[in-house]
Amino acid sequence: MANCENCGEVLHRVIKGKLSGRRDIVFQGVVKCQTCGKISDITIREPKALKIPVIVSWMEDSQRIETELNPDVLLRVGDLLELPSGKAEVTAIESEGRRVPECTARHIDTVWAKRVDMVRIKITLVKAGRGSPKEIFVAPDREFCVGDIIEVGRVRALIQHIRVEQKTLHRGCAPASAIKRIYAKAGRPIRSNESSA
Ligand SMILES: [Zn+2]
Repeated sequence: MANCENCGEVLHRVIKGKLSGRRDIVFQGVVKCQTCGKISDITIREPKALKIPVIVSWMEDSQRIETELNPDVLLRVGDLLELPSGKAEVTAIESEGRRVPECTARHIDTVWAKRVDMVRIKITLVKAGRGSPKEIFVAPDREFCVGDIIEVGRVRALIQHIRVEQKTLHRGCAPASAIKRIYAKAGRPIRSNESSA
């Protein structure tokens, strides 16, 4: 909104006006300053959000969607996008046929991003001395501790070890985003009339 030419305040009430414009959003109208009461004719021009193609990947799948960005916004690899499917981290930006580390939205052809609102945790579920591979999907900041009971499919299991980047934890906790694999001992199956843990 514009500043009042009389008192410099920005709060105005629209008396009449109209919006138009193709590339930009243009407001033309008459406004009244809420501080001093001065009435002014104004024209405000704002760039219209651009629809930018985004290829969002999550595990083996990828999906092509669009996100709206102000044309002047600078987007960088590593930035987080708020998409309808959740948060996604920008992994690549293409502008005029080249990969670039950053770019203003108006020059972006395509953005690649990966979902970061969910991570997959690999689990080795040990039952009667044999391990079987499983996986669960959780928020990246969810913490798991040795000794926790977790649900894996229809089975409750006790976490015995947690593999992180360089070592195996035999006690303590780690956030899902740091976990490479959980080793858990299968307990009894969850009956359908039990509520989940
Ligand atoms: Zn004023």
